Amino acid sequence: MSFERSARAALADEQLRGALRHATTLFGERRRAAMATLPDWEGARDRARAIKDETLLHLDRYLEEFTANAERAGARVHWARDAATACEIIGRIAAERGARTVVKSKSMASEEIHLNAALAARGIEPVETDLGEYIIQLAGEAPSHIVAPAIHKTRRQIGALFAEKLGMEPSDDVAKLAAAARRALRRRFAEADLGVSGVNFAVAETGTILILENEGNARLTTSLPRTHIALMGIEKVIPRFADLEVFLQLLPRSGTGQVLTAYQSLLTGAKRRPEDEGPAELHIVLLDNGRSGMLAAPVTRQSLACIRCGACLNACPVYRQIGGHAYGSVYPGPIGAVLTPQLFGLGRSSELPYASSLCGACRDVCPVKIDIPALLLHLRAEVVATRAGKPRLLERLAFSAYAAVMARPRLFESVVRLARMLRVMLPLGAWTKWRDLRPLAPRSFREEWRTRLRHEVAR
Ligand code: SF4
Repeated sequence: MSFERSARAALADEQLRGALRHATTLFGERRRAAMATLPDWEGARDRARAIKDETLLHLDRYLEEFTANAERAGARVHWARDAATACEIIGRIAAERGARTVVKSKSMASEEIHLNAALAARGIEPVETDLGEYIIQLAGEAPSHIVAPAIHKTRRQIGALFAEKLGMEPSDDVAKLAAAARRALRRRFAEADLGVSGVNFAVAETGTILILENEGNARLTTSLPRTHIALMGIEKVIPRFADLEVFLQLLPRSGTGQVLTAYQSLLTGAKRRPEDEGPAELHIVLLDNGRSGMLAAPVTRQSLACIRCGACLNACPVYRQIGGHAYGSVYPGPIGAVLTPQLFGLGRSSELPYASSLCGACRDVCPVKIDIPALLLHLRAEVVATRAGKPRLLERLAFSAYAAVMARPRLFESVVRLARMLRVMLPLGAWTKWRDLRPLAPRSFREEWRTRLRHEVAR
């Protein structure tokens, strides 16, 4: 379904819009309150962006350093050029260990490569253990937010889902719902042969990976099963351990409005002695899947600075109305509108760069100062240049006429004067379908200015 049709369907869903309004407003309020606890927010943003820029400029070097140090600590690092390779690597590791059940903590990269379907095709059952991911897995849906995957669902809908799938009494009591999920998931953790997690940051200097979470499920995923596979996009690497300080100040505050998440798991290699905690085997899969193509130009390279906090989604007036599913991608919202065309090609997502009013709210809230509006404009130019969007003849003519009039002040004045005399407003299609345009003023600003100037001179 096209973005336009999906967006229209979402706009007609009052329950969805109510859930979105409630959740995104709450996220925004919590974010602002958490920001206020950091004395130099702007300074932290600048430092984070500088670290990301430096890393991305020398990404090859930092990835090699990370690989060497992680392997020295006992991890095994795998390089995956694309989604199919990453699925093959993870599926093979699971199959070689005879895994029947794989527990997963939240990982957008695993959603990106459709890992669950690849594991299921091998007869291996993937079980999502993050509560939001668990809800949408039970519902057979895709995530609709990069931090809160089930943001589009109301408590009542989740209660009905749990009643149907887990056999509990229908309830919209959050504590009861969480307890039911916890009971069901404990059993799955106990029987899991392998755990798959995402990665928030990977430190080149030490070979350490950091996973942030609030539910303890990532800690269990990475420590209970004998084998842990961590899947990360290549952009997750940062140079130094000390750099974590700045990102730990920004990510929880921007993502969930917390000063710090409840759990921070720092993993350096696998366990070395029987009495150590953690998995006997740690595999780290470095996923490219189109990312290295974004490194070529500074404007697209900045997309890789994203730390997946989700703040731009919560601030976006488009996302706040239609939610994530309308974008038809695992990455929705403003950052999704720039990542999706770059990762998966413009052909399948040429509408997404236009899914924005370019108001700049996303750029203002982004903790790493990604200029998303500039990226959207860059991608729009690519859509036009590649004809991926096939602009309609009428649209092309309208823009040519507009450009011709706007470039000639006298012509512009004549057109406006004529429009005023005839009392006509140009039809503006979809824009005026939903909004009222103010009628033209009886006199233009220029005419008014000239008259006043004449009076001033005459006095
Ligand atoms: S683009 Fe910025 S605000 Fe949006 S998810 Fe990424 S880091 Fe967060």
